[in-house]
Amino acid sequence: MIAKTRQIANIRHLTNSLPTVRYVDPEYVYLAITNARCSQGESYVKVGDKVKMGQVIGLRKGPFFEQPIHSTVSGEVVDIVKKFHRSGKLTEFLQIKNDHQNTFDESIKERSDEEIAKLTREDFVEITKNCSLVGLGGSSFPTYIKFQTTDPIDTICINGVECEPYISADHRLIMEHPRRIIQGCLYALQAFKAKRVVICIKKKYQDLFDTLTAELTRFEGAPVFVKRVGNYYPQGWEIEMIKTGLGIKVPAGVLPAKLGVMVFNVSTIAGLWRAIKWNEPVMKRNFTCTGDGIKTPTNFRIRVGTSLKEIIDYCGGYTDDSENKVLILGGPMMGANLVRDDAVITKTCTSCIILNEKKEVEEPCVRCGSCVYSCPAGLQPVQIMNAVKNNDKETIKTKLNIKACILCGMCSYTCTSKIHLTDYCRKAKKMAQ
Ligand code: SF4
Ligand code: SF4
Repeated sequence: MIAKTRQIANIRHLTNSLPTVRYVDPEYVYLAITNARCSQGESYVKVGDKVKMGQVIGLRKGPFFEQPIHSTVSGEVVDIVKKFHRSGKLTEFLQIKNDHQNTFDESIKERSDEEIAKLTREDFVEITKNCSLVGLGGSSFPTYIKFQTTDPIDTICINGVECEPYISADHRLIMEHPRRIIQGCLYALQAFKAKRVVICIKKKYQDLFDTLTAELTRFEGAPVFVKRVGNYYPQGWEIEMIKTGLGIKVPAGVLPAKLGVMVFNVSTIAGLWRAIKWNEPVMKRNFTCTGDGIKTPTNFRIRVGTSLKEIIDYCGGYTDDSENKVLILGGPMMGANLVRDDAVITKTCTSCIILNEKKEVEEPCVRCGSCVYSCPAGLQPVQIMNAVKNNDKETIKTKLNIKACILCGMCSYTCTSKIHLTDYCRKAKKMAQ
């Protein structure tokens, strides 16, 4: 049923205009005790314990930070099971049976506008840390660390570009909740004492531009601006977005904060709104399930911890079962192939692309240079491939600047010989560690 090979197809089921379906009541949710950023973790609950929505039920520990684990339903802990995490590792998950009562933990309560106005940067650090807010565009970088920067921030840049093809989770979020996004921008503005917020969206999405500009009329005088940037990939790469959106060139190896710029994904800024206004951790997220391999591509608002299998079933299941499917968690360019469809949707999963497999045979490199010309980071993917094949760690470490690779997938996409160059880049990154 599920093939391993990566594939980009011409998906015709575009979901941009489809309203979000709220799929927030699964029978069970699965919450990982560890993840890719936090290799250690502990559970505060045991099988049989009753839990509430938003209750802290464990703690993940990474080398530099910790992340509380929150229950995303109210119900009962029924098991600790091993499942594959999106990172590909077999991981322990707390399995919680939903009682469908949506009983909130007492910690989730509204802050008045007066209380919010008094919040300091330190309060923002504390709240986002306790709410376990991370980069919801997929980076999973802890948001509280961004609030800890000591660099003066002049401009906050919101990434609403969603540049990977066929994903529309952020698109629908902006269309359906522009006020939360703008309010979240104003909270970030307050925390950093910044001068302006620039929300970047693709030029071609007139509907997003109209929605945001109409909503901004309610916030008269707010220094929040909408900037239309390129329609190409990887326009959403923060370095590229800062260049086209703000006209600032960020040199390689320099953090945008050093130039007075702080970037948040649009989903993260909506998560910031929830954290500040309601003291609410990330319990639900927007998620797109699309591709020519499922019957009804759909945009969802889902409960974090929902099984992907349930989402696929909701979409009517797979198209023609006789064809092998390719499942990609994330976008078709940067996402990770899944070998099974019982993965768990974590808070940083934006989408799943399900394709009918089209067999492509790799051919030898013809030295056309397409991969080199297309690399946005100015690297030499073909040389990276050769060094990996030769197990030449020294060259990878010292000459090929593999750290600058953003695993964007462009080299694989443009390769004349259909070589999976990005896989070699991934291997090279591991070899360089
Ligand atoms: S994945 Fe390929 S194209 Fe993208 S940055 Fe890395 S080497 Fe360059
Ligand atoms: S694009 Fe493919 S065929 Fe062309 S130089 Fe790069 S690896 Fe070789």
